[in-house]
Amino acid sequence: MELGIKGRWALVCAASKGLGKGCALALAREGVNVVVTARGAEALEATVAELRALNAGGETRGVAGDITTEAGRAAALAACPQVDILVNNAGGPPPGDFRSWEREAWIAALDANMLAPIALIKATVDAMAERGFGRVVNITSAAVKAPIDILGLSNGARSGLTGFVAGLARSPLAARGVTINNLLPGAFDTDRLRVTLAGQASKTGRSIDEIGAQRAATIPLRRFGRPDEFGAACAFLCSVHAAYLTGQNILIDGGAYPGTF
Ligand code: NAP
Repeated sequence: MELGIKGRWALVCAASKGLGKGCALALAREGVNVVVTARGAEALEATVAELRALNAGGETRGVAGDITTEAGRAAALAACPQVDILVNNAGGPPPGDFRSWEREAWIAALDANMLAPIALIKATVDAMAERGFGRVVNITSAAVKAPIDILGLSNGARSGLTGFVAGLARSPLAARGVTINNLLPGAFDTDRLRVTLAGQASKTGRSIDEIGAQRAATIPLRRFGRPDEFGAACAFLCSVHAAYLTGQNILIDGGAYPGTF
């Protein structure tokens, strides 16, 4: 399917690895010009090289910086001549017991998973509307739909973003060609998931493979998702074909969520 977004400019945040990278690759394959960000320069450079090697006609730029800071966002925006497509992403907050989280932990989670995406939306959507085309995809989490107690920081901050987006997506921006949606990953095979599995392995004395297999067995598809599958869904949401799709929370979890809706 021709996605109709060749030559558009995309800012894909937190994209040297994992799900963000999956989205950047899928967009670049469509000939989209892509600006990718991450804090670590080494992995970022490798990803920029991989994106360029696709040779699909688009330009690729890498910006090293922390997207949860004003300076990091300003540098990312400065590298993107215009933002037609914004993919919001950042690292997830750590798990834990809410009794041990002080105000600083909450502020860090809100900065990363609620306020940074809102700041980037604020900086870009009015210009998108003026041009009559815009796509915002926020990478959130399956935990927004099915909260996990030890992920309280994530549940709280991402739910705040989700509530904000639900209103904004239905504002006058919608009639001016700007769609805003959230993609909710279940368990995807990325560094983040491997770190979580390694933590459980060290706590229980079992191997990472064993813990991973046990977790995968709870998913109807009996496996973890792949970042390229996540990227394909993101690219579709950014396409001309998804023009009538806005304000949605789309779960990609191999069927793990057990409800009808
Ligand atoms: P990942 O494999 O660890 O990759 C995270 C990427 O984001 C890296 O490129 C990292 O590079 C970058 N990054 C992290 N914090 C950043 C920051 N403050 N500024 C700029 N770049 C930053 O993680 P992932 O699995 O793709 O997860 C992406 C998001 O989805 C996270 O919020 C995660 O909690 C959420 N999620 C993931 C899963 C899953 O199963 N994988 C499930 C539910 C939700 P640097 O470290 O160099 O900055």
